[in-house]
Amino acid sequence: MIKSLFRLFSCTLIFLGATVTSTAQSAAAARTQSPIVIVITLDGFPARALEDPRLPMPVLRSIAAHGAVAQAMKPINPTVTWPNHTALVTGVDASQHHVMANGLIEIPTDGSQLKIEPWVDKDRLVHARTLYEAATEKSLITAQVDWVAIYGAKGVRWQFGEEPNIHDEIPQEMVASGIVTREQIEQFGDHSSPAWRDEVWTDAAVDIIDKHAPNLLLLHLLETDTIQHEYAPLTSAAYAAYAYADHCIGRVVEAVRAAGILDRTTFFILSDHGFATYTHTISPNVALLEQGFITKDGNRYKGDVWIKAEGGAAELYIRNSAQRTELVPKLKAYFAGVPGIQSIYTNEEATALGIPSDANTDQAPQLYLTAAPDYAFSDDLTGQLTRQHAPLGAHGYPNSMSDMQALFVASGAAVKPGITLGTISNLRVAPTIARILDLSLPDAKEQALDEILR
Ligand SMILES: [Zn+2]
Repeated sequence: MIKSLFRLFSCTLIFLGATVTSTAQSAAAARTQSPIVIVITLDGFPARALEDPRLPMPVLRSIAAHGAVAQAMKPINPTVTWPNHTALVTGVDASQHHVMANGLIEIPTDGSQLKIEPWVDKDRLVHARTLYEAATEKSLITAQVDWVAIYGAKGVRWQFGEEPNIHDEIPQEMVASGIVTREQIEQFGDHSSPAWRDEVWTDAAVDIIDKHAPNLLLLHLLETDTIQHEYAPLTSAAYAAYAYADHCIGRVVEAVRAAGILDRTTFFILSDHGFATYTHTISPNVALLEQGFITKDGNRYKGDVWIKAEGGAAELYIRNSAQRTELVPKLKAYFAGVPGIQSIYTNEEATALGIPSDANTDQAPQLYLTAAPDYAFSDDLTGQLTRQHAPLGAHGYPNSMSDMQALFVASGAAVKPGITLGTISNLRVAPTIARILDLSLPDAKEQALDEILR
């Protein structure tokens, strides 16, 4: 079935030239022939998985064979989900968009532990213009399913969120057509498997394609990340997750074909970052507690210095700015002696990695720590500073690390077939999509991938 699907995929493209060069279109016809871009991210899918000729992803292979594939796509620092999803739709890195974690980093004024708040409005979190906002300005139809850093965003017409809202139109439509129950929407994340959530998110994307003909659809599939964290990348469990993601991609392509819009649709199948295996966890907050920077009062911890762990990176924040000049060199020297920590950057040094300056945002850390291979950081306040364990998976390591390289496949109406790229920056994705949809992203840092476009 999948093979026949892709015979259709390639046959349709043969007629594409005639479609796009037809002239004398009425305004209505132009609208119905306007280009469509569908972005599907497979969270944490490592580029190196593509090197395996027995990777069980026939749909992805077919799409890649009819389009452009990069040997690797370099993510931005930190190699974390929300910062990189934001880079994919803005064309700027964290030094400009200021997204440093999977939400807004909140530094409580009472000295308690840092919190990550995901459900803050996009305008407060993301300091950059996005593709969906640019598309809305041009009266294009936009949609998102499980996309991130997009809560409360203006410029998204149709949506099914990471935590779906029963009052949104798409969840209501899906309940009405019997795809999910109201109860399943209201208790979406409770005791549900990551595979089921990906299935429902795919259902939502299919519903949007079928009923609402978006010009730009952003779909984020998450199971690959969850499974690789728990079982490590390129393991049997990870391969099963890759295969399931492939099945979901196939359902989206089939929905596009069934809607009769395959000849004007371009697919981008991407990931936000790769994945690495580690067997040692460092908990730097344990050291801050031992050193007296964090104190325990009953069950409450308080301190002026806190670490936010992001797997292969850790961000250190000094709440009181008057203390920074004194504490930064002391803490840098201390952590330099901790085994498993590879590099420690001051905020000024970290700006060379694309980390924002703390003169511009409170999201910028005063120290940026990276872990050596086989080590990752945790936020834990108890237990040993470093502990060894069975293999787990993490990302967050420097974007120059080969394991962190991400997936880039583009294929369909706007893309030439048979193109292999070397390593590209993920900052080239947004300007490329902007070119296809004729949008303006003036702040994008890099050029569109003109070499892949028809
Ligand atoms: Zn991710």
